[in-house]
Amino acid sequence: MSLFIPELYKQTVYDIPQSFFTERGIKLLFMDIDNTLVTYDDELPTPQNTEWFKSLSQNGIDVVFVSNNHVPRVEKYARSAGYEFFADAHKPFCHVHKQIMKMRGLAPSQCAGVGDQIFTDVLAAHLAGCVAVTVFPIKDVTTAFNRFKRMCERPFMKKYFKLHGGK
Ligand SMILES: [Mg+2]
Repeated sequence: MSLFIPELYKQTVYDIPQSFFTERGIKLLFMDIDNTLVTYDDELPTPQNTEWFKSLSQNGIDVVFVSNNHVPRVEKYARSAGYEFFADAHKPFCHVHKQIMKMRGLAPSQCAGVGDQIFTDVLAAHLAGCVAVTVFPIKDVTTAFNRFKRMCERPFMKKYFKLHGGK
């Protein structure tokens, strides 16, 4: 396993087959919010988000938001979605993931990280010993730093698609 290559790469969260989680016995998702579920401009879950959460729940999969963004933003979204949240999580550090697993009595193999960034979401999930799923960013911010970050991610994305096929 490469720390930087997710186990699954999809366009959006809705493209993730839920069997990917259920077949592995995954019970909890460490969910990123920004650019994974909504854009930075969306304060609340979209109806499509809500439908997706409902179908996860029907499959016995719980969600906890683990975001590097700050409390006001994360809290507003998470409260509306009805899930627990951890803001300022400092991914790629994985202390929050570990704390949640301990609190809930779950093993790393029962959890997965879902997010849009390799150097935060994927790395944190892998360092915690969990599976990582990556989606394409919904609407990237076009700062120089962000472009640089995405450029650095490209070789790992290429490697993923070389290993698994696809674009
Ligand atoms: Mg994100």
